[in-house]
Amino acid sequence: MTQTDQQAPPSLNDIVSCISGYDPGAMTVTQAQGVIKDFIAPIAAIEKVAIRSALSRVLAQDIVSRIDVPAHDNSAMDGYALRGADVAHGAEVRLAIVGAVHAGASFAGQVGPGQCVRIMTGAPMPAGCDTVIPQELTVDAGEHAVILPAGRVRPGDNRRLRGEDLALGSVALPRGRRLRPSDLGLLASLGIPEVAVRRRLRVAFFSTGDELRSVGEPLDPGCVYDSNRYTLHGMLTRLGCDVIDMGVVGDDPAALEAAFRSACEEADAVITSGGVSVGAADYTKQIMAGLGEMMFWKIAMRPGRPLAFGRIASRGRQAFLFGLPGNPVAVTVSFSFFVRDALLRLAGAEAQPLPRLRVKSAAPIRKKAGRTEYQRAILAPGEDGVWTVRLTGTQGSGILRSMSDANCIIELEHDRGDVAAGEDVSIVVFDGLI
Ligand code: AMP
Ligand code: MG
Repeated sequence: MTQTDQQAPPSLNDIVSCISGYDPGAMTVTQAQGVIKDFIAPIAAIEKVAIRSALSRVLAQDIVSRIDVPAHDNSAMDGYALRGADVAHGAEVRLAIVGAVHAGASFAGQVGPGQCVRIMTGAPMPAGCDTVIPQELTVDAGEHAVILPAGRVRPGDNRRLRGEDLALGSVALPRGRRLRPSDLGLLASLGIPEVAVRRRLRVAFFSTGDELRSVGEPLDPGCVYDSNRYTLHGMLTRLGCDVIDMGVVGDDPAALEAAFRSACEEADAVITSGGVSVGAADYTKQIMAGLGEMMFWKIAMRPGRPLAFGRIASRGRQAFLFGLPGNPVAVTVSFSFFVRDALLRLAGAEAQPLPRLRVKSAAPIRKKAGRTEYQRAILAPGEDGVWTVRLTGTQGSGILRSMSDANCIIELEHDRGDVAAGEDVSIVVFDGLI
């Protein structure tokens, strides 16, 4: 049983064979992103949820408006509704007040030339009226009349048109949209109580390495606490996935194979950290490769050079597998630039690129041409009020604080060399997003 769309997807080998001069030992970031994108097809399963439960879920169908919003022309202001012809000449006018209309009500009478109706914001425009004079622009002329000084409104002002927000029959929200708070409001404005969304992704993850201890355990000599599972837990939760935390798996072939199999049987995607770099025990990669179609890449980037990607199968179930390097910063960077987009695609979401801006670097940055570098940085206003970016201290890929202190990543392009102070750099703002 496959967990993805029915059409037979291309094999990884088919995809990489289209890359001229394909070299798994020297991939660019863009090449790896392209292969991952081509290999992943969205999950098909759909469920209906109430709109309150639909935040961050992915719409499975276009939402077509079955009504006009607003349903009638109405006033944008508290004031007086009148016929535009009465103000077309631009001179001062005196208007007789012939009634009042509140939001939620309607005015049944006729409004003739030289007449107006007291109107509240949101109230339907009385028949024949197409213009509203805001209350504050008028001069009182007793209980039954109002004076409008010359040149204050033009015909058609302060009127909201029927269907100007959402017209009957138009696509209000497209399939693939990850619903935001204002989208929930928009659905409610259409009177839609529930929507069809893709089911949530199930993502299993575990950390590999004999040296790893989980929080709550004593830290034996030579060991480190496993941080990657917690970072992954946070990033996946923020992405709206159901997470399956499988703990730490030691550098032991049988335990690793059992973990890969069980993860694959439970989840749409599996993420591991550790064991894919050159120094690691070879059997991690052998086990991955033995369970499906896997690529083991060295990517021209820093941090995050090694990356394993592919699809594994166990007992008739399949899952995409991302084998990330072990270093904590490499995990975050690899997740942000490869896994995030891939999971959004798998979830059926339209592409949601992280915002990229060009800003000036406050200080020089050392950079080696021939690889993409992701440096952790802080975007903040300088003394002159202009926002610039500066690095967060030591940039080693094991220094997790460099990431924790950062609110953005400076993306230094493949061919670029050293950066001088004041030069423009490209930054990826992730604060609140990853
Ligand atoms: P590896 O990719 O397995 O060679 O690991 C590279 C480095 O990352 C080593 O110093 C590991 O101890 C460290 N590391 C691997 N996994 C984790 C983890 N889950 N949490 C913290 N550090 C890790
Ligand atoms: Mg390891």
